[in-house]
Amino acid sequence: MLEISIINALSDNYVYLLRNEQKNLTSVIDPGEAEPVIKFLKSKNWHLDEIINTHHHHDHIGGNNKLLNVYKSKLIAPYYDKKRISNVDMFVSDNETLNIAGVFSKVIHTPGHTLGHVCFYMPEEKCLFSGDTLFYLGCGRVFEGTMDQMWSSLVKLRSLPDDTTVFCGHEYTLSNMKFVNYIDSSNTLLNKVSSDIKEKRKKGLPTVPFNLGIEKKINPFFRADDNSFIESIGLSSNEAPVSFGEIRLKKDSF
Ligand code: ZN
Ligand code: FE
Repeated sequence: MLEISIINALSDNYVYLLRNEQKNLTSVIDPGEAEPVIKFLKSKNWHLDEIINTHHHHDHIGGNNKLLNVYKSKLIAPYYDKKRISNVDMFVSDNETLNIAGVFSKVIHTPGHTLGHVCFYMPEEKCLFSGDTLFYLGCGRVFEGTMDQMWSSLVKLRSLPDDTTVFCGHEYTLSNMKFVNYIDSSNTLLNKVSSDIKEKRKKGLPTVPFNLGIEKKINPFFRADDNSFIESIGLSSNEAPVSFGEIRLKKDSF
């Protein structure tokens, strides 16, 4: 059983600290900064065994080197990023399995935001670490891949069980929510979720983690192959990757 702590980093990044008490193992996912992680580890008196990166962007790897210096941890990163992330001890690719903090995990390659982006899924813990591929009510901007690739990546994540708990890389929920409410205002489940999100942000609490099953019904980026939804938001039904791209562009200019 893992204890997962959320650490705030930079302006809106989330760093996840995974603690396996039985095995005395601690891992961190996407340390954009080292200091808040070191501070947290010190307060718990934990060593840092592993650092895991979902992709090469600085706000996800910026703390790597300092943490490596302090803890001599093992660094695990996508194979695709081997020229863009340094000091990596173990590269991972699509469909590979590994233990993270002693817990069985699957690597899901999700190109789109970057070409090498990977997500980590823990079936026993029912957890997904989605980096900058899937956000609460949103998805990452498509910087390196194509709209087709990003859509296929989201379809992979959508195929995971409904009772999956998702931990994403940023607190972008409020701005995502504004967009989704604008295009899909009659979605009653969305209305319910929105008041919960507003409540949490008012108290300064993170809106993550979130439930994947609900997300499948309210995240517009998961619904590009639902023709009645596509028509309801004023797009003409089309191939799913095309509709996905149209929603992505709508959001980019919202
Ligand atoms: Zn990124
Ligand atoms: Fe990011």
